[in-house]
Amino acid sequence: MRHLREIAPGILVATAELFVTSSTAVAGPGGCLLIDPAVTVAELRLIAAGLSARGLAPQAGFATHAHWDHVLWCRELGEAPRFASAAAALDAERDRPSMISRVQDAAPGHDLELFGRLRPLAPGQDEIAWDGPRARVLAHNGHAPGHGAVFLPGTGVLVAGDMCSDIEIPLLDLAAADPVGDYRAGLELLAGVTGVQWVIPGHGGVGDAATFRARVTADLAYLAAIERGEDIADSRLRPGWLRAEHEQQLRHLREHG
Ligand SMILES: [Zn+2]
Repeated sequence: MRHLREIAPGILVATAELFVTSSTAVAGPGGCLLIDPAVTVAELRLIAAGLSARGLAPQAGFATHAHWDHVLWCRELGEAPRFASAAAALDAERDRPSMISRVQDAAPGHDLELFGRLRPLAPGQDEIAWDGPRARVLAHNGHAPGHGAVFLPGTGVLVAGDMCSDIEIPLLDLAAADPVGDYRAGLELLAGVTGVQWVIPGHGGVGDAATFRARVTADLAYLAAIERGEDIADSRLRPGWLRAEHEQQLRHLREHG
């Protein structure tokens, strides 16, 4: 794991081995807001120890969406409330059995009592309630129901969740009625945010403002191609598992689109 490093004032990012997964901590006066801590038991403990050493024990947690690698927690991180959008929190409950089987396969040993325990934001609430820097939640249904990116206007940091990645193509929620439309709406929501200086994708490298714009453009191009039922030359399609996801998305859209 690449240990916690400060990418903007008070914004710490750790990068896990598996899927190059980002964990983001936002420093506040009495601790931190911890977003999507991941992935293995050992990595979560390292994050907890690193935060504790800096006097940044979590005061609040946030899960961008209800996929198993974004809803992890461990005792050492303490008992802070862990928020998610209402739709994502509901999705975590509904999908719990399959999320548990995935975590057991890919990163065994987590405390399942703590796994996926999310508190829904109240209706109309679009900021995370904590006493640190303002954290706006941008919820949409691209990639997963109620997927919530977090924008920190004080530093211009956008924690994008599973979007805007340099290593993963847009992965659609194929259970949705309009997977491409949902994803495009999510991207447009993020693209419309003013003041993005840094983007932290759920998987992949942190990017600056220009990189963020380029990734949005690449993702929109990808969506346009698969919507037309066309293949696309995208450098992110090299790994076999992403090639397989891509082919499954194309097939699904040809059958249902
Ligand atoms: Zn995901």
